[in-house]
Amino acid sequence: MASHFSHEVFDHADAGDKTGALRIENLTVYYDTPRGPVHAVENITFSLHAQERLGVVGESGSGKSTMALTVMRLIKPPARVVSGQIWLGTIDLLAAPESRMKQLRLSEIAMVAQGSMNSLNPVMRVRNQINLGLRDHGVRLSKSELDEQVTALLATVGLSPEVANMFPHELSGGMKQRVVIAIAISLTPRVIIADELTSALDVVVQRQVMETLREVQAKIGASVILVGHDMGLMAQFVERLGVMYAGHLMEVSPIREIFRNPRHPYTQLLITSLPSTEVKGEFMGIPGLPPSLLNVPPGCVFHPRCPLATERCRSEAPVLREVQPQTWVACHFAS
Ligand code: SF4
Repeated sequence: MASHFSHEVFDHADAGDKTGALRIENLTVYYDTPRGPVHAVENITFSLHAQERLGVVGESGSGKSTMALTVMRLIKPPARVVSGQIWLGTIDLLAAPESRMKQLRLSEIAMVAQGSMNSLNPVMRVRNQINLGLRDHGVRLSKSELDEQVTALLATVGLSPEVANMFPHELSGGMKQRVVIAIAISLTPRVIIADELTSALDVVVQRQVMETLREVQAKIGASVILVGHDMGLMAQFVERLGVMYAGHLMEVSPIREIFRNPRHPYTQLLITSLPSTEVKGEFMGIPGLPPSLLNVPPGCVFHPRCPLATERCRSEAPVLREVQPQTWVACHFAS
């Protein structure tokens, strides 16, 4: 498929253009707690282009899943959107009535959430589970039409027609995950969000499921946001990568650039901490722990762990800026 590296990454200066698949603008999401708000997502802006595969990577608690759930309008109190906008093409998702969101989910934007293969109904055959989503969106098919549709969907995710008659417990983990993908694409959404899609699967099956998602995405022409923590999977699948830390977007770059020349100190540490079969040596973790999101450090949120931090970093928050074409970094000193 064609590379999208030539596309503009962000559209801060182009706010009137709603032609991308998805745009998140200045999104801030907090969880209210008795001890104060947890700053889960802080002022995030990025665009997803048509037919693009974008990764969002971060440690547990970095805000990536909250961001994904907010896009789907599936966050619930005590979580709340403090500010920002989310555009699905020309549709303002945060302003859409819930009835409209119900229509949009699956038909325009679908999510394969963490652990969703375990949320398949254990007492319902695969065919009926696929039919359920279609019926919810007003699609009424005769038995033969449904059989045809289900067979085609299963074939798209590499499963045989017999799977339609099976119950979830008769399927392996990889097969269940493919069924979940089949349901997610049953109404050919233009955006698919996959959150930790393969974390419960072994490495070989992970690769197969990712390959299935890539084929499906190309076939239906969707854009994909892959949310996760596995840099290896990201390298295999995405074209651009966003790196989140403590609710902030630290860097967004073409995936080759991230690995070849990471610009943000956090990204640099992430890359050097990866075990490598080529470079023999110590496995380097990142010293320190992410901050409590109840009590976010002033200035750059990464400064307590950053080996390059200066006095300025302790008081002044860096803004995400384009330091090289298509490479956006939130660090005072990145170039
Ligand atoms: Fe490190 Fe300062 Fe850059 Fe933050 S702004 S990443 S603390 S050098």
